[in-house]
Amino acid sequence: TPIVAVVGRPNVGKSTLFNRLTKSKMALVDDLPGVTRDRLYGRVESYEKPFTLIDTGGFDPPADQAFADEVHAQIKLAMEEADLILFLTDGKYGLSPLDSHVADMLRRSHKPVIACVNKIDSPEKEDAASEFYALGITPLHFISSAHGYGIWDMMQDVMAALPSVEEEDEDNSGEIRVTLLGRPNVGKSSLLNALVGSPRVVVSDVAGTTRDTIDTPFTFDGQDYVLIDTAGIRKLGRVEKGIEKAGVFRSLRSLERAHVAVVVLDAFEGITDQDLRLAGQAVESYRGLVVVLNKWDLLKGEEYKQRRLKERLESAFRFAPYAPVVKISALTKKGVNRVLPQVKKVFEEYNKRIATGPLNKAMEMILAKHQPPMVKGKRLKFYYASQVANRPPTIVLFVNNPKAVHFSYRRYLNNELRGVMGLTKAPLRLLFRERS
Ligand code: GDP
Repeated sequence: TPIVAVVGRPNVGKSTLFNRLTKSKMALVDDLPGVTRDRLYGRVESYEKPFTLIDTGGFDPPADQAFADEVHAQIKLAMEEADLILFLTDGKYGLSPLDSHVADMLRRSHKPVIACVNKIDSPEKEDAASEFYALGITPLHFISSAHGYGIWDMMQDVMAALPSVEEEDEDNSGEIRVTLLGRPNVGKSSLLNALVGSPRVVVSDVAGTTRDTIDTPFTFDGQDYVLIDTAGIRKLGRVEKGIEKAGVFRSLRSLERAHVAVVVLDAFEGITDQDLRLAGQAVESYRGLVVVLNKWDLLKGEEYKQRRLKERLESAFRFAPYAPVVKISALTKKGVNRVLPQVKKVFEEYNKRIATGPLNKAMEMILAKHQPPMVKGKRLKFYYASQVANRPPTIVLFVNNPKAVHFSYRRYLNNELRGVMGLTKAPLRLLFRERS
């Protein structure tokens, strides 16, 4: 799915727009376990082309930093990584010199840009805000993120500007596309080198793709793999921590093209929020997930530290309890050869299918074993289930009131159906759809 970035000065209303667009209005409720954290990105699925929206407002500078510089950095990132830029200004405040500066930068980029004057909620106010035409960016929309004015029109232009939806990934080439994600210095490039340098690995050739990404195809134990965006891995290692946020874009990009994400953690330093954010991205993008605990050599003999890490891992990764964990040392190469077999197992489950007959038979038993809850004196009613996709396995459940299927019952259904399908290492996606 394409990436759309919202840029603009602080306080023009970026987060409000982000919240409005990412709030799903469909009678389609997703069962994703809640990963609570700051949201910098979200999926927008209520228009004809789904896309990922990035709120660069999440990157707003702390007050003591030169903020023109920050905005600058933010916009450069968006220009590099997004497919479309929504440039937001504040119609109540009026045109600011920084807006014009941003507009200059955006005009020089080759990305499609849609300008939006926010905090405008009537045609009269539009007239009063005509000074924004001086930005010289078309299309220009007058919108109210808070009240919805102009949003529909704006979204028509967004849809027109986005690349058309690509065909579902139905390639049966059998190759497994893997991305390595992790904070700087956790050992991604060391792992990459250990993998690619292993005598059991046969690197076919290094094929450059579009943009500045390099993918590395290779074979391991007869299975074809492609490591996605290995250029990004090498580059990110050298980037200072401050620009880590670049990782949000880059990891979203790589995830779009991957089947399985390998999230690399530093066993010595422990698990950080940034680690969980990356793993959360993989889960929310419905990719398979393998967790690698690197630098395990540094915990050798440290039983107390090992146990503490294990506990922390279990509680922090409750949103993806199925993800296999592999302990390695990229330095000594110990355990490195166990990473790809886990990736392969996840990928195999990622492709699983269940026929409608057996699925609905299983549903009958699952519903009988633990009845759906009553909602306002009426029992929730499930009508029919069907697997609509794989990668990951995705099942639609038709129900009389999707919103009333609470988290604990969803979790129950998810666990039971995982059992039925034999899923132990890959996610199962449940969608609850209203049948009227
Ligand atoms: P990247 O930024 O994630 O690509 O991390 P690098 O691969 O550049 O590794 C960062 C630092 O950690 C380097 O100094 C590596 O030598 C070191 N390192 C990587 N893997 C291990 C490991 O398994 N054990 C130890 N002790 N050090 C490691």
